[in-house]
Amino acid sequence: MIVVDNVSKSFGPLQVLHGVSLTIERGTMVAIVGRSGSGKSTLLRCMNALEEINGGTIQVCGNRVAMEDRASVKRLRSEVGMVFQSYNLFPHLTVLRNITLALTVVQKKSRADADAIAHKVLGLVGLADKAEAYPEQLSGGQAQRVAIARSLALSPKVLLFDEVTSALDPELTGEVLKVMEDLARDGMTMVLVTHEMAFARRVADIVVFMHQGKVWEAGPPAEIFADPKTPELRQFLSSGL
Ligand code: ADP
Ligand code: MG
Repeated sequence: MIVVDNVSKSFGPLQVLHGVSLTIERGTMVAIVGRSGSGKSTLLRCMNALEEINGGTIQVCGNRVAMEDRASVKRLRSEVGMVFQSYNLFPHLTVLRNITLALTVVQKKSRADADAIAHKVLGLVGLADKAEAYPEQLSGGQAQRVAIARSLALSPKVLLFDEVTSALDPELTGEVLKVMEDLARDGMTMVLVTHEMAFARRVADIVVFMHQGKVWEAGPPAEIFADPKTPELRQFLSSGL
């Protein structure tokens, strides 16, 4: 579904990704873990053409992503959804309208079709009763579930999640993780950057440990957590982060 091959990325003189290669198979959940600053968010943003890469290639659904090729970026945007730590809902729009906006404006769907899709995805994240609420009336966990629903409404083939529970109070992270687990069970292809080690261990198919802008180790959770090969990963796991 996604093939990242020998990707490098610099910001000015600072090289952040050093030849990252990673294959994400259809229907799998890949969890990316690692210390702050190791390049996890940058890698996700490169996968979604939010950053231009300086070397290597990225293919999504068989198509090479090139930021200078507008058609490739447009196709990518219809295939890849991304959810961030800050959910960025429009405060002046109801939950329903937050979800239908891109459907009517970008995808040119009718109001009725968009509403039907919005109600369906709200059901999937357990918020069928919040369609007419405004963002300020939601808890952080509910708002993040709306943000996930908004991505789902666009029927992506892959969803990227960047620390979507990091800003939430601990008692609210569970409901968001549960939505992600449900999506994984339904076969959604997902890549998530997370600090939720127990979740990654239990739910992810592959765990990728990034260190200093490289994929340092990658494999099934049983291997990564129970049998780390490098001192860097061992140290990371024992640091409690
Ligand atoms: P992580 O998500 O693993 O914490 P990031 O990918 O956010 O790491 O950042 C990796 C490195 O790249 C950090 O040193 C960060 O300061 C730097 N960086 C990220 N985005 C930018 C940017 N837009 N401009 C300059 N430096 C950046
Ligand atoms: Mg980050």
